Amino acid sequence: MPTIKRIDHIAILVDDLDGTLDFWRDALGLPLAHTEENPAEQAKIAFLPAGDSEIELVKPTTDDSGLARYLEKRGPGMHHICLEVDDLEGMLAQLKEKGIQLINEEPRLGSGGKKYAFIHPKSAHGVMVELYELPG
Ligand code: ZN
Repeated sequence: MPTIKRIDHIAILVDDLDGTLDFWRDALGLPLAHTEENPAEQAKIAFLPAGDSEIELVKPTTDDSGLARYLEKRGPGMHHICLEVDDLEGMLAQLKEKGIQLINEEPRLGSGGKKYAFIHPKSAHGVMVELYELPG
């Protein structure tokens, strides 16, 4: 049976990356490990490790992506939580069997060989949930 291992990250949608760092980095003291452009998501992402998990600050880099529309509609704030699972395909099959609505029916391939998929917030009581399976 597929098992959730830990919270990998919490993603927060922002409209001003540097402005947001005044809270997460400067006030709370979380380290800024690195930032990267993610062309697939059309976003710039800042990674701030917090123990065994990370806070990700996500800023859309175009006006017409899904993230940009979300930001436009709801404003800055929490976007999704990501749980690491040991067997993503097994977990997706289990969720489908239980009638959970998935945004990605099949695992997608992310940077560094990780597999990921999103669960629709309608099936998770208003929370967007991402699942990761990390390589090796
Ligand atoms: Zn994520």
